Amino acid sequence: MTLLEEILNYNLKFVEDKTYENYETSKVPTMKAVMLTCMDTRLVELSTKALGFKNGDVKLVKNAGATITHPYGSTMRSLLVGIYALGAEEIIIMGHKDCGMGGINVEQVLNTMKDRGIKEETISILKHSGIDLDHFLGGFSDVRENVRANIDLVYNHPLFDQNVPVHGLVIDPHTGEVELIQNGYEKVVKN
Ligand SMILES: [Zn+2]
Repeated sequence: MTLLEEILNYNLKFVEDKTYENYETSKVPTMKAVMLTCMDTRLVELSTKALGFKNGDVKLVKNAGATITHPYGSTMRSLLVGIYALGAEEIIIMGHKDCGMGGINVEQVLNTMKDRGIKEETISILKHSGIDLDHFLGGFSDVRENVRANIDLVYNHPLFDQNVPVHGLVIDPHTGEVELIQNGYEKVVKN
């Protein structure tokens, strides 16, 4: 059985058994927060369970490395829309220890792409068109610094409401223990 068949079969039973009733909630986040965290497999459930969040409590944005790669990219868009249109009043940016994007080797990623059929010529054309592949595919060396840099990016965004607290956390993917990097309430600018 393929993964897709497995998923679809499971889903038939999930709906038939009305398992969804355990997850019924609204689109407005009960805890009034939008959280950006990493797509790491160990955080699929841990990222919310370790913080006490249930279904419906937060808007959850996940990507590789819990990183805002562009001020007008989809991650920043999600955070802004979360605040201005979807009922979130606080932002949480949570990186984690032992992140796959920590010290990722871009050269190795490019080599793997070539092994899988992406032409050297394509990569060369992209580089010459001004696409910074090192930045696009790159990670970070220090997760705490990365969380701080992302918080700065949010606070410096021209469309960001400075009254919204942005908290920074780093979670241990084994124990779920969270380290406070930035208490957003201390940075809130009152008009
Ligand atoms: Zn990660």
